[in-house]
Amino acid sequence: MAKLFAIIILLSCYYISTAIASDWSYSDQQSWANGENQCDGSSQSPIDINTQEVYYNGTLKLDFINYDHPLISYKVTNNGHSIQFDYTGDVGSAPAITGTVLNNEIFRLAQFHFHWGSAKHIGSEHKINGRAFPVELHLVHYNHAKHDTLSKALEARDGSVSVLAVFFEIKKMNPGFEVVADMIDKLQEATPEQSQFMRETITLQNLLPKNSEKLYRYHGSLTTPPCTEGLVWLILNQPNEIGRSQFEKFLGVIDSHSGEKIANNFRKIQPLNGRKVESSFKPDMVNKGFVHMATSSTIIVSLLMIFLSIVGISPLLSIQ
Ligand SMILES: [Zn+2]
Repeated sequence: MAKLFAIIILLSCYYISTAIASDWSYSDQQSWANGENQCDGSSQSPIDINTQEVYYNGTLKLDFINYDHPLISYKVTNNGHSIQFDYTGDVGSAPAITGTVLNNEIFRLAQFHFHWGSAKHIGSEHKINGRAFPVELHLVHYNHAKHDTLSKALEARDGSVSVLAVFFEIKKMNPGFEVVADMIDKLQEATPEQSQFMRETITLQNLLPKNSEKLYRYHGSLTTPPCTEGLVWLILNQPNEIGRSQFEKFLGVIDSHSGEKIANNFRKIQPLNGRKVESSFKPDMVNKGFVHMATSSTIIVSLLMIFLSIVGISPLLSIQ
């Protein structure tokens, strides 16, 4: 009998350890695709947005509902991959996004979380013209009129989930971010089971940059396994700002399973595979394209000078 118990205990330990081993990590992204998920799909996220190749669509407009109301009912968790804030209040009064950018349908907030890097030039999942930001916020919304829950909306893969992404730069202290920074600080070493229902109110509007009209839209996926596709991504062009000490709260967050820091919790850039990225504004030309034009014109002027020196100035010299 004792032997039987020992075998049962050993088998249980084996199953538990394989279950933990099957959990994914950012350091082993090539093994995310396992045939049962969509991580090797053709419409994956994140992407690098090349502003020279986006399609301008002046009709794209994003509107916010209840983003200026204090968020009271929510739960914060250090899930070992990020710090996540789950909305736990009534769906009808949840913050939401809408507007022509979402065919005027209402997408309710389910949760938001952050991705960050260990240095200033890395951290965000999306990039703009090859540039990464130190922090990227993901506000995950779903079309509640079509699906009861976020997981049902994800399973449908029908464009019923929309993630609003906001970049952060390390500049001035942001008083509106302080309440979030405090909570990150409190949960730096927490296990997923130690999630907390917080009393402090958060106003989501404070997490947005001053200009939330300039944005990009494309169709992509979750950036963590199972990498489910069919998501509408909205990326704000203007980054928000946080102070150095606020950013450092992220750097202290650890994964309680491994005991290691969570920093660099971003997925690598995925191929566009012909997908169209739209912008609500005309991206300016002060980037690679403009520099390229300037270089070309410099070469043309130089060639013209050489040509003139041979054809024009030489005869003048010969007259003398
Ligand atoms: Zn995310």
